[in-house]
Order: sequence, then structure tokens, then C-alpha cells
Amino acid sequence: MSHKTECFPLSQNSCTLGDREQAIHRERASSPNNCSGDFTKPSDEQDFFGITSTIPIEIPLSAKKKIIDLNNLFITSNNPDKYVKLAEEKGYPRTCCTWIKGIYGYVLEKRISKIIFVTGGDCSNTHALRETLLPELKEVFTFSFPYPPDKEALKNEMEKLSTEFGTTILEAEEIGKKLFPIRKMLAELDRLTWEEGIVTGFENFKWLLSSSDFNGAPDKFEQQLAEFLSSVKRREPGVSKIRIGVLGVPPVFSDLHKTIEEIGGKIVFNEIPRQFAMLDLDLDLVSRYQKYSYPYGVWPRIKDINCQIEKRKIDGLIHYTQSFCYRQIHDILLRRMIKCPILTIEGENPSEIDQRTRLRIESFFEMLEGRHFKGT
Ligand code: SF4
Repeated sequence: MSHKTECFPLSQNSCTLGDREQAIHRERASSPNNCSGDFTKPSDEQDFFGITSTIPIEIPLSAKKKIIDLNNLFITSNNPDKYVKLAEEKGYPRTCCTWIKGIYGYVLEKRISKIIFVTGGDCSNTHALRETLLPELKEVFTFSFPYPPDKEALKNEMEKLSTEFGTTILEAEEIGKKLFPIRKMLAELDRLTWEEGIVTGFENFKWLLSSSDFNGAPDKFEQQLAEFLSSVKRREPGVSKIRIGVLGVPPVFSDLHKTIEEIGGKIVFNEIPRQFAMLDLDLDLVSRYQKYSYPYGVWPRIKDINCQIEKRKIDGLIHYTQSFCYRQIHDILLRRMIKCPILTIEGENPSEIDQRTRLRIESFFEMLEGRHFKGT
């Protein structure tokens, strides 16, 4: 995978951030449930565009812009709580989602000046986030996934963003082809998780989640991913365990995956991170982002989840919900429309999992083991 230096604009001038991201990555890999590795201001930070959620990254990349996901930077920092508290000091209400407050505090503290806000299909709080950050920013873009998911409307929105960045959908499509080998490797990593059981649920989560921005440097990401895949081929398949799917937005708990796997579950499905990774490889750019379930309400998610339950032989689902998030309401429909046991848990602030939630997961597993024993 050596051709990426000329393929990706990020590789040309991203040494400082790339090295920092690699450090974060190594830290996550060696201590996967410890939110460690602070992202400190790189010398070329002003060259980066922060994103507030997944966007068609191919567009800014084709305009030779560098992209970094603000969610990932916030949550993998040494002290994410610090940024939440900073937002509250500035007046953000306690009853506002931690992800929004964390991004706000992080952007302020790190003086990030260029942001693409996802104003449709992610979170209505992003509108207020944008409005409160505007005085601090030099360049501001928005991207809105249409609701309902209309292909023509999505194409128009992508064309608008392309024009604003001085590029075209066709050029973005070319970048999409260059990202193809990475997505293909991510699809293989996902298969190795659920089919062969040699990739852990946390590793799966980490890699798929990081694909929203490819850790700011797709070429390095590709190289590291290839090395990781080569290293896991030597592993023995794990013993059979209760097969678990994790639904919902990325958790603020630092050790949810570790806890589930410690208690005896094998995580074979990370719903939203898998969506971020766009693993349907045969789609053109517009179709790829139309197939992406996350921005389009609960029904495409339910369809995807039901399909994956069958394919991955999932025994039970853990639905992570974020305090003060409107997506918590979707739990009603997930429970109604999904024929698989679901445990719903809730997190508020960045922390390790609390004892009550751990106990609830343990009880859920006892119930699943009982079903297993009875063959139901
Ligand atoms: S968790 Fe919910 S409320 Fe928080 S940023 Fe995401 S969508 Fe918005």
C-alpha cells in the first residue's frame, strides 16, 4: 500500500497531526479502554477542517483539504471531561448532550478555526453549536443530509459542498476510488470480527469509528490497517460466547466494549461505526451516502439491524443511548420492530461504566445464557 503519498492530499503536509494521531492510535490499541493520548495543537492545525459528524469526506479531500473528526479528538483526549466543563462554564446547559458540549469546549480550547457542521441528519443541537462557535471561526461550511433520503436532494447537497470547496462530484468520485482499498480492508476486518472471531469487538469499534476521518491521514491509516490485518491473521479464533450487537451512537463510556467482553460476550456488530465506514463497496458516491442509514431516521437502521442479526447470528443487543439525545426515543421502535433481546443502557459524561450498568449487563447475559441453554 505504498501509492498513497501522492493519492491523498492529507499525506502531503500532515506529519505533525499524523504522528499525534498514530500515538493516539497506539495508545488505544495497547490500552483500548483508556481514553488516553491527548491531541495537542499541531503546527499546521489551521490547515485542518473539523467535522461534527460523518460527511462525504471525498469532497473536501478532492479539494486537497485535511479533515479531522471533532468527536474523535474530543473523546480520545486525555481529559474529555475538561472540555464538557469548559462548555458548561461558558453557559451550555447541564441538560445538553455531552458530545455537543465536548466539541464546543474542544474547539474553543484548541482554537480550531475551520469547521464543516452537519446540520441535517445528525443532531439539531449542531445548529446552536454552530451559532455559539461562529465568532471563533474563520471558515464555516454546512452539510445537510436530506430527510427523507431523496437521491436527487442528496446529490444537490453534495454538489453544493463541492462548489463551495472548488471541486466537483466527479473529482470526489475519483477520491472515492482511491479510498476503496481502505474500505475493502475495513470490510475484511469486520468479517474477521463476526465470522472468524479473531478481531475483538473493541478493535472492530475503534477501526470502523476512525474511518469517519481516517484519523486525519488516510494514507497512514491504510498502512496501519494493513499491518493490523496482517498481525491478526496469526491469531486463533476465540471460543464461542454469547454473540452481541451494540446499537446506537458511540458511547461516552470508555470501557463499554471491554466490560461486555469481560462478562462473556463476543461483540460481533457495532452498528453505527459500521455505518460510518461505508462498507458497501460497489456503490457510487451519491448512492454510498444514500445507503448510509444513520442520518435518515430509525427505519433504515431497523432494516439494517434486522439483516445483520440474522447474518451474524446475534443472541442479544445492547442499545447505548446518550442522555439528553433525541435518538433515545428511537428505542421505542427498536424494541417494537426488532426480534432479538435488547438491553438499553444510558451514559451521560465521559467515564468508565458505572456499577449499576455493569450489573444490568451481567443480568442480561444470564438471561441470554438461559435462552442458549434452552435452545430458544
Ligand atoms: S448523541 Fe444525540 S444529542 Fe448528542 S450529538 Fe449525537 S445526536 Fe446529538
